[in-house]
Amino acid sequence: MVDLAGQYNKIKPEVDAAIQEVVESAYFINGPQVKQFQSNLEKYLDVKHVIPCGNGTDALQVSLMALGLEPGDEVITTSFTFIATAEVIALLKLTPVLVDVDPDTFNIDPKAIERAVTEKTKAIIPVHLFGQCADMHSINDIAEKHDLFVIEDTAQAIGADYTCKIHDKTKKAGTLGHIGCTSFFPSKNLGAYGDGGAIFTDDDELAAQMRVVVNHGMAVRYYHDYVGVNSRLDTIQAAILDIKLKHLDEYAAARQKAATYYNNAFANHPKIKTPVTAPFTTHVYHQYTLVLNNVDREGLMKHLADKGIASAVYYPVPLHMQKAYLDPRYKEGDFPVTEALAKSVISLPIHTELNEEIQKEITEVFSEYVNK
Ligand SMILES: *Cc1c(COP(=O)(O)O)cnc(C)c1O
Repeated sequence: MVDLAGQYNKIKPEVDAAIQEVVESAYFINGPQVKQFQSNLEKYLDVKHVIPCGNGTDALQVSLMALGLEPGDEVITTSFTFIATAEVIALLKLTPVLVDVDPDTFNIDPKAIERAVTEKTKAIIPVHLFGQCADMHSINDIAEKHDLFVIEDTAQAIGADYTCKIHDKTKKAGTLGHIGCTSFFPSKNLGAYGDGGAIFTDDDELAAQMRVVVNHGMAVRYYHDYVGVNSRLDTIQAAILDIKLKHLDEYAAARQKAATYYNNAFANHPKIKTPVTAPFTTHVYHQYTLVLNNVDREGLMKHLADKGIASAVYYPVPLHMQKAYLDPRYKEGDFPVTEALAKSVISLPIHTELNEEIQKEITEVFSEYVNK
């Protein structure tokens, strides 16, 4: 699905030197590269505070911890996402309230959020799934009306641009709500060579609180005012990410070019629906995800695998049907869009190292099965 080694080879001398420098300095934890990457990411995103942390799941957990929510408080999120989003809500004994998604963009449906708000609702976590922003204008309106926090899960959409309908102003994904969270998992659009994550906010108080939470609840050394966690970005990872950040826009352009090739190859096919990008956002294609109509997905995936072509299903099981998250409030049929997508989506390889030759083969082998 990705070619991380191919991508590394293009920046190898710079990355190798940066890693070597960290090893020789032995400044493995909180070395100067962490601050430098933090500051460069703040500039790139045009956000006041970036708080580096251990991974994207921690970023979400720390955000919720910093809001001082009480057990039983409700957090609204999407039924069609990676488990981490709901996992941290459940882990903190908050109540995940799931809502369905838009069938075109796969992102959380604001109308469904509005219907799910109760007096216990404290926050909304929209996920910018597969690389395009959710409808943040509508989500922020609902949040303002009901006095809710908005935490964006930007793990799949770092670098995407959102254009505010009213102000016609462009802002980066993750800087549109109160807090943004991202992951630097190796296959993410800005990937480290191991785990990593970060939290973004323009709010000074929230930033200060989150810096305390990631550091064992400690503002003054060995004085612990809160129960916190230990969540840090390694110096080596920060040094690598600082180099890759300079290439992020070029990486997004490569993914967009690959997506355009696929879009053209599958255009107007009665059995294949190509990705739909909402008018207010760019798409950075963390995944290139098609919706199949009347195609045996298992058979197709096997046909691709037999020819050495990767494919994947993100995500085969909606959150409310995951064993660990079964809940009497929900039953099969409650989220029809999510349930239909879980049965019909398929993702094709998309990354910075694709070329037309590879894509020609992928689309030909794919169409061979679908057209048979
Ligand atoms: C990858 C991902 C996460 C978690 O990130 P990790 O760094 O793996 O903990 C959270 N949410 C979404 C939508 C993701 O894709």
